Amino acid sequence: MSEELFHKTVSELSEMLKSKIISSEELTNAFINRTKTLDVKIGAFLSYDEEKTINQAKESDKRRARGLSLGDLDGIVIGVKDIIAEEGQPLTCASRILESYISPYDAGVIKKLKSCGAVLWGRLNLDEFAMGSSTESSAFKTTRNPWNLDYVPGGSGGGSAAAVCSREVPVALGSDTGGSIRQPASLCGIVGLKPSYGLVSRYGLAALASSTDQIGPTGRTIKDVAILLQAIAGHDPRDSTSYQADVPDYIGVFNGKNYPKVIGLPKEYFADGIDKDVSNAVNKAVDFYSKSGFVMKEISLPHSEYAIPVYYIIMTAEASSNLARFDGVRYTRRSKNTNNAMDMYFRSREEGFGAEVKRRILLGTYVLSSGHHNAYYVKAQKVRSKIREDFLRAFEEVDVILSPTSPSTAFPIGEKLDDPISMYLADIYTVSSSLAGLPAISIPCGFSSSGLPIGLQLIGKPFHDADIMLTAKKFEENHDFANRIPNMV
Ligand code: GLN
Repeated sequence: MSEELFHKTVSELSEMLKSKIISSEELTNAFINRTKTLDVKIGAFLSYDEEKTINQAKESDKRRARGLSLGDLDGIVIGVKDIIAEEGQPLTCASRILESYISPYDAGVIKKLKSCGAVLWGRLNLDEFAMGSSTESSAFKTTRNPWNLDYVPGGSGGGSAAAVCSREVPVALGSDTGGSIRQPASLCGIVGLKPSYGLVSRYGLAALASSTDQIGPTGRTIKDVAILLQAIAGHDPRDSTSYQADVPDYIGVFNGKNYPKVIGLPKEYFADGIDKDVSNAVNKAVDFYSKSGFVMKEISLPHSEYAIPVYYIIMTAEASSNLARFDGVRYTRRSKNTNNAMDMYFRSREEGFGAEVKRRILLGTYVLSSGHHNAYYVKAQKVRSKIREDFLRAFEEVDVILSPTSPSTAFPIGEKLDDPISMYLADIYTVSSSLAGLPAISIPCGFSSSGLPIGLQLIGKPFHDADIMLTAKKFEENHDFANRIPNMV
């Protein structure tokens, strides 16, 4: 199969399937073979089930032969972060504690993708339980950045971003609690969207911080991301925070001319602490928008400085509670040689969880404990409301907010491993929109002097996901960063 196939977008592959230039089985085999060749170096995949995947492709071909295509994603290969349940497939969350767990059911989004005829190829690596910004805390393997194999792909969804970047899959699903779709997208030079909280069902997503967790798409173009969002968005009665409204036409929006007009630049986000290459690239993007007729307006998000501490209090509190279910009795690996039930719980958790997960469970349990609950957890919730109010006030004057996605480009593997605080600071621009439940997208906007990608983030009003995609598209149409290909690919 020609090399060019791997560089095609979902829309292009979908056209090829429609006009019968290629069958889904051929397409799927091509991506399977590519994964087998490339992933030895990249390490994006934790597992795959070739037979099941080929069968899904064959079903798609049969449907098409009967004239019953299910739309743009029918027969298209998709990767899935190994924290989203697919029936009959491993669901490890990159943790020893779920090492041999097989999911008995499909997540809401997987059900939807299956009903669109998608071909689900492989389970993608992540930081253990999606806690991290480099994918290094995975219990099973190191994922490498295709732009430089000695560098991290970002995290927690480094597997999804690296697989899309290296063209092992055209698109992939990720999950984002505080930046896990956007930051790896930025570090790998692809597009990643965190939808508005409530737009996409969380049913079947292993819970980290339930009040900010969202599943979202990653791809190489904004249109591909929109196609995937269209398929997974919508109400699900099995997720009590799922939004009840009709899903807008995210793909059709690109045909209209209804661009957002005013872009806000938070002064707190353009202060110190950003890499020079990053601030240069982002400032060039600002110039581009201003020359393209957008009104640029400085805004203030005065509580920004509290975003990291607030996020790491709320997130660890919720995570410590969510992860209490992994006790060696249900789901999981059970420690052998234990004397009694308590001993068994303790040892199973001690053996099953890695260092970062333990650190967060301890922090979360501490901030929820009776003597500290008001001082930390309750206070953090109050400041979280202030952070959201800052955004809503800003959105009275602007339509979209622009910032870097990450303060730096990818960093060398191992560099931040012993310094959790510096790892947490990598999330400085992504956690606020998570805490406020806002949609946010990262798109490639340049390269550093050492050839590493730089990401631009656009944040939108609640449920105005289309606004940020449309604004991002304007940039994409006029730049070719998305078309650059890492040398090793
Ligand atoms: N890097 C952030 C954290 O470690 C974000 C994680 C995520 O979005 N899942 O919590």
